[in-house]
Amino acid sequence: MASPSPLMTRRAFAGVLGGAALLALGEGILASDQAHSQGSDLADTGVTPTQIEAAPQRAAASPAATPRSLDDLPWNLRLINGAHPLPDSFAPAELREIPDCGLAFDARAFDDLMALLDAANAAGVRPVVVSAYRSADYQADLFRRRVQRVEAEEGLTGAEAEVSAAFWVARPRTSEHEAAIAVDLADAAYQELDEAQEATATQRWLIDHCADYGFILRYPTDKSAVTGIGYEPWHYRYVGKEAAGEITASGLCLEEWIESCGWDTAA
Ligand SMILES: [Zn+2]
Repeated sequence: MASPSPLMTRRAFAGVLGGAALLALGEGILASDQAHSQGSDLADTGVTPTQIEAAPQRAAASPAATPRSLDDLPWNLRLINGAHPLPDSFAPAELREIPDCGLAFDARAFDDLMALLDAANAAGVRPVVVSAYRSADYQADLFRRRVQRVEAEEGLTGAEAEVSAAFWVARPRTSEHEAAIAVDLADAAYQELDEAQEATATQRWLIDHCADYGFILRYPTDKSAVTGIGYEPWHYRYVGKEAAGEITASGLCLEEWIESCGWDTAA
């Protein structure tokens, strides 16, 4: 697929950034509120999602000079990977509970997630949410268990076992799930998270349509060398509709697209 010109990419990106300041402000306020709900015993997430009114999806787009520091990326474009972990002090913004699964998602992206799931069901496919927001402790536990599995199955130890484990389970503070802006969606009839997901009717539909609802398939099969994560035809990252359309049309992964827009991904 042909890439758009860099100029077009930057123009569209400026539009995506229109609501950044407003949303960043909201994140700060809501994050402190969220801290009060920590400590409950909801099994998967470790928090009790709080129902709130849906936040505005974006402010009116306005021309903006393209900032260069990744710190200035809006919440929906935040780069989270092995090289760019969340700070220890990070707390997710306000969460909303996803019906029927006990999991939670960023309230600002909640309506788009619901619209994606509704549209999928209307199209006759059956996605189920198998993971959404994960607390830092939960992610740490997931990683610890993966390391133990690698030690048992691959005979590796120490740092080598951790490197192998991190290809499939993000190290603590490097998972988009901790920011509540990624979901793992499986076909209801096949819920194993392995490469066979790709062939299910649900994933075929989601891969073709997720961008219309602001999501991208975050770890494409041919981008593992860039993302550092194996092919995951079930992990969908929220970036907002404009960015999702741009990224999907470009054929780039998030790291490459952010860099193509002039951001300093090496910082
Ligand atoms: Zn995932």
